[in-house]
Amino acid sequence: MNKEHTVMDQFQQQDNQLIIGGKSLSQIELLVGRTPYYAYDKQVIQHTINQLNQKLPSQIKLHYAIKANPLPAIVHFIKPLVSGFDVASKNEMLLALQTGIEPEEISFAGPGKTSDDIQASIIAGITLHVESENEIKKIIHFSKSLKIKANIAIRVNPIFELKASGMKMSGGSKPFGIDEERLPNILKHLNYETINFRGFHIFAGSQSLSHDAIIEMHNKTFELIQKLIELTPINIQYINIGGGFGIPYFPGDTRLNINAICKNLSILLEQATNLESIDLILELGRYIVGESGIYVTKITDKKISRDKTYLVCDGGLHHHLSNSGNFGQIIRKNYPVTIGNRLQASPVSNQQIVNIVGPLCTPLDILAQEVLLPMAVEGDFVVVYQSGAYGASASPKDFLSQPSVLEILL
Ligand SMILES: *Cc1c(COP(=O)(O)O)cnc(C)c1O
Repeated sequence: MNKEHTVMDQFQQQDNQLIIGGKSLSQIELLVGRTPYYAYDKQVIQHTINQLNQKLPSQIKLHYAIKANPLPAIVHFIKPLVSGFDVASKNEMLLALQTGIEPEEISFAGPGKTSDDIQASIIAGITLHVESENEIKKIIHFSKSLKIKANIAIRVNPIFELKASGMKMSGGSKPFGIDEERLPNILKHLNYETINFRGFHIFAGSQSLSHDAIIEMHNKTFELIQKLIELTPINIQYINIGGGFGIPYFPGDTRLNINAICKNLSILLEQATNLESIDLILELGRYIVGESGIYVTKITDKKISRDKTYLVCDGGLHHHLSNSGNFGQIIRKNYPVTIGNRLQASPVSNQQIVNIVGPLCTPLDILAQEVLLPMAVEGDFVVVYQSGAYGASASPKDFLSQPSVLEILL
């Protein structure tokens, strides 16, 4: 329960109105045609990437993981600001290719790639991140039949994991990557003639707000890199060190201290002189776009049931599953929310504790529980902040056959 009204500071405001890309929420409603919508602010994305590029050691290249937000306008906007894209499906690969980025700067990770996915990737010339030994066999088979050497990197499932993170993607038994301890044997027997073996992908987790946990992960990743270099009989060109940078969502969360992380990476690179000619890649999704987006839904009813006040809105779980708490959360917590046309409620007497729900006939359709907000009325805009990643594309848009959500980059 947030008992404090949150106004996030990455956006501008004017006369109590939230401003995205120079436009108020009612102006954006007229631009896109109706609510509910997602609006993304270019300046916030640009600022986030500029900060990263300034602070990261120059040897580290930044990639955008498209699955965080695959809106074509966003992917095209980001293209000149990053060195490459990470894709998680063939459709994302096609989107990335059509921005004009060099194919070698696109990497494709994900378990269960079909024969179709593999052949398309080889033809496109992108780098396949291999998730299993069986997949290596398939890639070698198709490299031969297509007479094109596939670019491959092995995704490693390291022994370590990213601690203090929202989603652990390594350590223990996982469907992702090849277990670290199986690599000596695989690297010894790999047929390096039939493919272009580029290097490794080490991805340990997602959504961490602890710089200490990320620094520990980087220290272990760099140790592992040295082992992998020793085990590989040819020179490697490329290592993707994963991502894991989180953004604050819940009460008490604070923004990640990237200064400490970047400083530690500089130290690691100074120590590892044998990595000078290797492309080192940091892949981020949520961190790049998450803070740039808001979800906007209109209040269509205000009601009291027993002692609770409900704001009922025209959007909800079907557009924003992660905010509803049903996308990997164990205990539901509120994303930061506000009333976008009444930002400063001034006196506390003008604020009210409300429950915000969507239009679906399920108790899961929750936008926010027991939040203190400026007194709102029918027609006002409920805004969910931190909605630029894993929003529209991560939601069950057909559930209950409600109108789909609109999206705009401003
Ligand atoms: C999902 C994913 C990412 C992006 O994760 P974020 O939390 O959005 O930064 C990066 N790399 C891989 C391999 C992924 O699967």
